[in-house]
Amino acid sequence: MDIPVLHRLALNESPYPPLPSVREAMHRAVAQAHRYPQFHPDDLTERIAAWCQVTPDRVAVGSGSVGVALQLLRAVVRPGDTVAYAWRTFDAYPLLATMVGAQPVPVPLTPEGHQDLGALLAALDHRTRVVVLCNPHNPTGSLVTADALSAFLRQVPRHVTVLLDEAYVEFARHTDLPGTPALLDAHPNLLVLRTFSKAYGLAALRVGYGLGAPGLVERIRRQQLPFGINAVATAAVKASLRAESELRLRVDTVVAERERLRRELVSLGWRVGPSHANSVWLATPDPVDEGAAALTEAGVTARHYPGEGLRLTVGDRNANDTVLTALAELPAHEGASRM
Ligand code: PMP
Repeated sequence: MDIPVLHRLALNESPYPPLPSVREAMHRAVAQAHRYPQFHPDDLTERIAAWCQVTPDRVAVGSGSVGVALQLLRAVVRPGDTVAYAWRTFDAYPLLATMVGAQPVPVPLTPEGHQDLGALLAALDHRTRVVVLCNPHNPTGSLVTADALSAFLRQVPRHVTVLLDEAYVEFARHTDLPGTPALLDAHPNLLVLRTFSKAYGLAALRVGYGLGAPGLVERIRRQQLPFGINAVATAAVKASLRAESELRLRVDTVVAERERLRRELVSLGWRVGPSHANSVWLATPDPVDEGAAALTEAGVTARHYPGEGLRLTVGDRNANDTVLTALAELPAHEGASRM
C-alpha cells in the first residue's frame, strides 16, 4: 500500500505558500492573461537591479536560475569544451553541460563535504569554459568564505567563466560572506546566480536571475526566449520584493528551525555539520539508508543518495518534529558509530 506523503522535504522548497499580498498580485495578473508579457523582461530586470543595487545592464533574468545557467552555457560553450563542478552538487549541472554539448568534469568533494577549490582549479585547462561553485553548497550546506572565494577567483584563468550559484544565499548567516558588488567589479568572468524559488518561495513560477559584467550579461540575454518570463510570475516577484521584510521573517524562522533540527539530530547521535542552506545533510557512515526508509514510512520525502547521504529540507516545525521522531526510532540508531 502506498504511504501518503505528509511532508515534502526533498526539493529544498519553502514550507510557506505565497503571502496574501503576493497572491493578490498574481490574481490581478491572471485577469490579464490574454495579454503577452513584455518581449524582454525589462521592467522586472530594472526592479531586480534596483533591489540588488546594481545597474540594469548587470542583470539577466531567466526561467528559474537553472534557466539562466542554461543561457550562460549556451552563450559561452562550444562543442568539445568542458564544464567543471564539484560533485556531488545540484543535479542539473551535468544535464545542462550535456545539453549544450560540453563534457562534464565532476571534481570530488573533500571528505568533509566541502567543494575542493584546489582540485577544481587543477581541473581547469584550455578546454574549460565554465566552472560552477555552489555557495552555500547543495547538498551539504557548506560555505566557501569570502577569502577562499577571492583567492579562487584570482586564480581562475580569464577564459573560464565562474558560475557562482547562490540559490541559498539568503539562508546563510555567516559573518564572512562574499560581497557581491565588489566581486562583480573585480571579476568580469563571474556570473552570480540567484533565485526566487527558495527564500522567496516561488518555485512553481520559475524566475531566477544572474548578476555579472555588462558584456557577459548581454551575451546571456541573447539566449533568452522572447516573451519567456510569464506575467503572473513577474507580478509575484514584484510583489515579493515589496514584501521583503515579511519574507525575511520567514527565512529567519527556517534558519532557526535548521539550527534546532541540527542540534536535535546531533543529540540523537547523527553527525551533522553546520548548514548555511535550507537543508541539513546526513552522510555515511551514519545509517542514511535506514534513515531514508524510516522517513518514507513516516510520510516524509527526503533526497536520498543511496549509500552516500540524505538531504533533508528544513520544513515547518511539525514536519521537522516528524523527521526527528522517525530518525530517533531507527533500529539501526543504537548500533551506529557516533562521534
Ligand atoms: N541551484 C541550486 C544549488 C539548487 O539547489 C537549485 C534547485 N534545487 C537551483 C539552482 C535551481 O533553482 P531554480 O528553481 O531557480 O531553477
